[in-house]
Amino acid sequence: MRILVVEDEHRIANTIKKGLEQERNAVDVAYTGTDGFDLATSEDYDLIILDLMLPGMDGISLCKNLRKKGLHTGILILTARGQIHDKIAGLDCGADDYLTKPFSFEELLARIRAIVRRPRTSINTILTVEDLQLDPKSFIVKRQDMPIQLSNKEFALLEYLLRNTNKILTKEQIISHVWNYDANILPNTVEVYIRNLRKKIDVPYKTNRSLIQTIRGFGYKIGIR
Ligand code: CA
Repeated sequence: MRILVVEDEHRIANTIKKGLEQERNAVDVAYTGTDGFDLATSEDYDLIILDLMLPGMDGISLCKNLRKKGLHTGILILTARGQIHDKIAGLDCGADDYLTKPFSFEELLARIRAIVRRPRTSINTILTVEDLQLDPKSFIVKRQDMPIQLSNKEFALLEYLLRNTNKILTKEQIISHVWNYDANILPNTVEVYIRNLRKKIDVPYKTNRSLIQTIRGFGYKIGIR
């Protein structure tokens, strides 16, 4: 899954990001409401986790504005404000659920699962290119109907490539979607992961063209167009 976390407290944002990445999600973080709005309307997310007290645009306005734009992505409000009227305001503005800080990570994961189980989000969609399939929900990857075992990072990388089929992605974009900002990942780490992924999804299937293509000087893309 691809998740957007809108949270101005860096420590909390990074804890959530790390935890969600361990669960094989690709996570983007926005530290202001306005950045959150820009990302949510320009990128394709399965879920948005939204703090209420934010610089730029507060969480309630952000949620309202996203729904006004016709965005149906699941939204989970995460905030320190536990009063009843805040919860009601949050749900009335179009959020799907509400969790009060401090929270247990297990509860956050359970609530995320409950939101994405609802059919209107794109999470149930199996991502495909040619005869390769990735199911973001069951974590099953298949090519020619044969299951392929991937590590968590390889899975997150492949999911990110597939969510952008036929689009060229730079190493920097890949790093920021698949790794933590603070992980200090060098561009050649991406090369290593791409090589490993190819060994699993391309090399054993002696087809004419690789699904993962290197675009010299730019980055990578998946797709045969
Ligand atoms: Ca805040």
